[in-house]
Order: sequence, then C-alpha cells, then structure tokens
Amino acid sequence: MTEVFTGNFTQQEPLPEAALEAAMAVLRHGRLHRYNLKPGELGEVALLEQEFAAFVGAKYCLATASGGSAIGLALRAVGVKPGDRVLTNAFTLAPVPGAIAAVGAEPVFVEVTDGLVIDLDDLAAKAGEAGVLLLSHMRGHICDMGRLMEICDAANVTVVEDCAHTMGATWEGVPSGRHGAVACYSTQTYKHMNSGEGGLLVTDDEDIAAKAVLLSGSYMLYERHKAAPGAEVFARHRMEMPNISGRMDNLRAAILRPQLAELPRQIARWNARYRAVEEGIRGTPGLTVVERPDQEHFVGSSIQFLLKGWGAGAVGEVLERCLKRGVELKWFGGPDPVGFTSRYAHWRYAAPPELEQTDGVLSGLMDMRLPLTFSIADCELIARIIRAEVGAVFQAR
Ligand SMILES: *Cc1c(COP(=O)(O)O)cnc(C)c1O
Repeated sequence: MTEVFTGNFTQQEPLPEAALEAAMAVLRHGRLHRYNLKPGELGEVALLEQEFAAFVGAKYCLATASGGSAIGLALRAVGVKPGDRVLTNAFTLAPVPGAIAAVGAEPVFVEVTDGLVIDLDDLAAKAGEAGVLLLSHMRGHICDMGRLMEICDAANVTVVEDCAHTMGATWEGVPSGRHGAVACYSTQTYKHMNSGEGGLLVTDDEDIAAKAVLLSGSYMLYERHKAAPGAEVFARHRMEMPNISGRMDNLRAAILRPQLAELPRQIARWNARYRAVEEGIRGTPGLTVVERPDQEHFVGSSIQFLLKGWGAGAVGEVLERCLKRGVELKWFGGPDPVGFTSRYAHWRYAAPPELEQTDGVLSGLMDMRLPLTFSIADCELIARIIRAEVGAVFQAR
C-alpha cells in the first residue's frame, strides 16, 4: 500500500486560551490604539515591547504593523537614503528587497552558499559598495556571525538583521538579532508567533530607537513607550523624522504576549519535528541534507534539502510525485515565482546581475514548511514519502 499524507502545510495551531482571553479584554474595553490608554495604564503594545526586549536582551524595542514595515523603519533609522545601495542576500524572501526598494534604495545582491547562508567571501568583495547590509537569516540559517561582523566592521558597513525566521534562535549563545545595529522580526501568521500581521524591531542604539519610534508614527506621544530612550534623545530627532505610520495595535500585542511566554516550548516542538524529517531523509541517494553548524541553535519551522545538479525536469518530477502523496514541497529554482518562492532574478525592478553560484544552489533547493499541527509521526511519514519519491526519480535517471 502506498502511504499518503493528508495534513495541511499551511494550518497553524489555534492560539492559546490566554491569548483569546487577552484579546477579549481589549475588545471589551475598546482601546485598541496603542496610545489610547487610561491613566496609569501601560497598554498591551508597550508591555509586549518590554517583554520582547527582555527576551532577546535588547535595550529598546518597537512593535510595528508588519515585519516588512520594521525593516523599512530600520533602514531609514540607520540613514539609508534614496539612491543608496544596500547589500543583501540573493537568497531571501521578496519583502526584503521590497523594503530596500520602498526607501528608494538599490539592492546589491550577495551570493548564497550551499549551506544556505550569505557567502562571506562574496560579501567581503562587495562590502565597499554600500554602507548598510540588510542581512536576511533566510529559512533560519545563520552564517558565521563573528566573521560577518569582522567584515562589516572593517568596511564600516552597518548591519540590519532580518530575523523573520530566527526569532528565538541563537548563534554561539547570542540571540539572533543581537549582532548587528538593529534587528527586525515578523509576527505574521507563518512565522514563530502569530498575530496575522505584525513586526518587532530591537536595538541598543538610542538614536536608532528614537528615530524608529518617530518614523513608526508616534504623533509625539513617544513618552508612552516603555522600551524606548528618554525624551532628551527624542528631542534630537522629533522634527527631523517623517511619520510613516507602521504601528502595532493593542489587540495584536495582547495575543502575542502569551505566545512569547510559550515560545521556548514551541521551539523545542518545532525542532523535534525538524529532526524527525531530517533523520528520515538523511542518506537518500541524490539528496543532500543541509547540515546545521554546532554554533547555531535554530528554530526548525521549515526544512530545506538540495537535489544538487538534478536539472529542472527531474526536480519537477519529484515535486509532482510528492504532491500526489500529499507532500507539498516548494522549489526556489523555478522559472516563474510560485507563491512565496520568488528569487532574485524575478525582482526585475532591482536589475539584478546574474549570480552563478546562487543560481546553482537555488536550482536544486527544496523547501517545506513544518507547522506545529504536524505530529512527529506525520513528520516521519513525510520523510518516508520524500525518500521513496526522490529515490525513485534518481534511480530512473
Ligand atoms: C515574512 C518575511 C519578512 C517580512 O515579514 P512580513 O511580516 O510578512 O512583512 C521578511 N523577511 C523574510 C525572510 C520573511 O520570510
């Protein structure tokens, strides 16, 4: 009998009861706007900012309307201007070059390695071309952060970290997002905490923090922020920053706070699922597992593997055969973007040059979500299906 998987790759778990109760409390009092507070009330957004700052060990935190909006605010706050060039990974998700385009700047794409991280040799070669690196820890893969910071410090490049896939991850024990000048996280449904849309920005730099708060649309009510610098810092910037409206509201913050408390437990559950798939597919002929470095404590909310040198026809066959058995693999090497799988060559507004190494990696890159609604047994079944179908196509060729 051929086994078929019947689970849904885009189904999240329900939110915790505590989140439902917190949401109802906000809905009952009606003060959804973050600055709409009773005397003495801190508000859900300000509390979330304090708690998230403590979670990653940052001085300052700003909650935003989305991860992409956090990145846009961060780029502006570190001084990116229209026409500037910004270094970024060639392998990332569309909102990353999109955030660069939104400030009128121009991405300079850096190659990816077959470990799925930014190629540090290519970064070193290109570091002189820009003053800012928007580093995307795409799919949760973290590069050698010590070497990356050496390269960027030597070239005077400010590092903005996109931690959409590394919320809760660490590199050598340091929380992801704490190496660069500023880091951005997403609380969009498919990330590690779910508020539909939402984002968080953290930094230890008081000027970046104040500018980001002002840019996010604080209507000069910045003293209602708690994980923010003092009024004297805002005084330096309050007339200089445009209001770009990208705030979070109390309803979303209310449902995020209980999820933040649960995040370490959720990460352990994700990683158990990740390891079950990884073990199950390891050793499949023709398939390369992406090995994780010891310095990295990652969050296995998705898994990637490589079909190196396979060619589009064979990869297409694997996709089709797995899908027939209920396993939804995504491919980052397709000629056309499907869903979220667009890659640098599809971002024509950025006039990307050809990146041979990245093309080689992406041509065989398979990607799969691991929602927490999957059981460990589900993950073992998925791995058996991938193993069988990859093996069958590989043998036939
Ligand atoms: C989701 C995502 C973002 C942006 O987050 P949104 O909240 O959807 O705006 C940025 N970078 C990466 C790598 C992402 O996956």
